[in-house]
Amino acid sequence: MAEVKRYTVTAALPYANGGIHLGHLAGAYIPPDIYVRYRRLNGDDVLFICGSDEHGVPITLGARKEGITPQQFVNKYHELMKKSFEAFGISFDIYSRTSNKVHHETAQQFFLDLYNKGVFTEETSLQYYDEQEKMFLADRYIQGTCPNCGYEKAYGDQCERCGTSLSPKDLKNPVSVLSGLPPVLKETKHWYLPLQNFEPWLREWILDGHKEDWKTNVYGQCKSWLDSGLQPRAMTRDLEWGVKVPLPGTEGKVLYVWFDAPIGYISATKELRPDDWEKYWKNKDTQLIHFIGKDNIVFHCIIFPSILHAHGEYILPANVPANEFLNLEGDKLSTSRNWAVWLHEYLNDFPNKQDELRYVLTSILPETSDSDFSWKGYQTAVNSELVSILGNFVNRTLVLTKKYFDGKIPEPGELTAADDACIRAMEEAPKKIGAAIESFRMREALTELMNLARLGNKYLADNEPWKVIATDEKRVKTVLFLSLNITAYLAALSEPFLPFSSEKIYGMLKLERCKWNEVTGFLLEPHHHLGETKLLFEKMEDEPVIAQINKLQAIKPKTTAGTNTESEKKSPIANPKPESVSYDDFAKLDLRVGTIEAAVKVAKADKLLQLKVNLGSEVRTIVSGIAEHFTPESLVGKQVCVVANLAPRKIKGIESRGMILTAQDESGALKLLQPSEQVSNGSVVS
Ligand SMILES: [Zn+2]
Repeated sequence: MAEVKRYTVTAALPYANGGIHLGHLAGAYIPPDIYVRYRRLNGDDVLFICGSDEHGVPITLGARKEGITPQQFVNKYHELMKKSFEAFGISFDIYSRTSNKVHHETAQQFFLDLYNKGVFTEETSLQYYDEQEKMFLADRYIQGTCPNCGYEKAYGDQCERCGTSLSPKDLKNPVSVLSGLPPVLKETKHWYLPLQNFEPWLREWILDGHKEDWKTNVYGQCKSWLDSGLQPRAMTRDLEWGVKVPLPGTEGKVLYVWFDAPIGYISATKELRPDDWEKYWKNKDTQLIHFIGKDNIVFHCIIFPSILHAHGEYILPANVPANEFLNLEGDKLSTSRNWAVWLHEYLNDFPNKQDELRYVLTSILPETSDSDFSWKGYQTAVNSELVSILGNFVNRTLVLTKKYFDGKIPEPGELTAADDACIRAMEEAPKKIGAAIESFRMREALTELMNLARLGNKYLADNEPWKVIATDEKRVKTVLFLSLNITAYLAALSEPFLPFSSEKIYGMLKLERCKWNEVTGFLLEPHHHLGETKLLFEKMEDEPVIAQINKLQAIKPKTTAGTNTESEKKSPIANPKPESVSYDDFAKLDLRVGTIEAAVKVAKADKLLQLKVNLGSEVRTIVSGIAEHFTPESLVGKQVCVVANLAPRKIKGIESRGMILTAQDESGALKLLQPSEQVSNGSVVS
């Protein structure tokens, strides 16, 4: 038996200041879940580590805004995030949190180890201070104008518009987020990690050592950081909330959140495996892999490795397969603007459709460049791929077996050359999918999985068992035997991507779960009885999809006004042409059919006609701008559609009460909108 390999897989610790949205899931949680599930199926020793990042200024700012303590604030979001991950089958071995005691102790010990080794430099500097609130202002507590793009609400650490990394003193016209007043500069002492000293080692480790195996986006970002020169970075902050600095005389100081957060991976491992956690962090045979979004590359490839390297006892990441960003309907996802699809809301709206979302997100993972989620795209992928390809194949195979052989797996006859070719293609599937997952190409892996279902569909279509059954039952036995075995492969190989559906297929086949290397030959033997057949996926109708689009649309105008005009321009939802309305809005219109009883020109107005329109219960006066297209006499007696509840308007001194509907094509010719047959006046149009 091959030697068991050991993997420590981490997923970025999400900030406990909101829910989990699609961008999070696609960026840093679905890819490692696929990877880890695959590794487990291979019998590898793998730990999948994550937890809530509960420190940092966004937490204290959020708590302040909600009028609760930071601990109450993080408790709320920690639970919400944990539940979302569980519901979507993200199979962490532990989902911990950085407000835990074990984490505070671990992070403090780490700091002390480095302090005692003389790694840090101490610097007293002038920092911004809010005199009214009597506190030093962390980067996020300061806003001002970005020196790079001129955005007026850039934070002290980063401009959210242009992405430039900043320090508070870069900002023009800084103000305190707390008091709104310009801050003053005051002396304070901090401990710095002299990153510039690590530069030669980082160059060798990353630029020479990982040119081949790290993703180009990750390698490129590291190179650009290194080429622009590394600066000392403060590892402590003046704040009340966080891991206290474990040195005497440091009241009011905590560890920098990006010092303590990655150590959270280690603390969580300790919590999970108190007796043997060290082999997952200190044994050279262990592969450490960090799954993150691209905004965290510098912390996981430069800063945290420098800390681990300085400590000396720890392994370094073997790979950091960072993803780019997922956009939503053409616009950047944003928690603060609520431009997001939240997992807890998705679960409410689409219960038991976790695999549908996992599938769609995997198929568009931003692996090499930013990608876009749209509800229309979601609907298309569910219907034309999950339902029509995977679901259809599994369903047809099982239903035909029930129908012809009473749900018992038939004995195959002689295999044709085409059967042999099909078997060879089946046997290739686990290798192809596995190779793609191991190279962190999850989209490609999913495509290979779907190719197996496509192979099955084609095999059925080529062999037409539903026709052949009339003349050659023996042949149908072979065809279904093979199709059932393809279905068994699909049960096993879909597990990393679609864990809920995989379990369903296993159940329908009454098959034991198998390991990846067991997916070879025939998994189902003749005479085995199938379980109960259920539909794997349901068609996604228009209505719920439109409801989701409307929900986003309702968010858009009020939260983005004046904040991000450039991305608004790009968004098909932000500026629909014309803007779509909800059904409720449409239903407010009172549209009716009426007959024009009289029409005259309006004096001194070339374009206007004054019409008398009989709406059944009343005759209305309507002024309409159609005089250039119709003679008055041609209109009399015609039925037309009328917007009956349009607010009355005075036009050239005449009160117009309604509007008649017309259609105009490219030639400019105007036609009346009429019922195809005569209807009674006042009939409702809907
Ligand atoms: Zn900027």
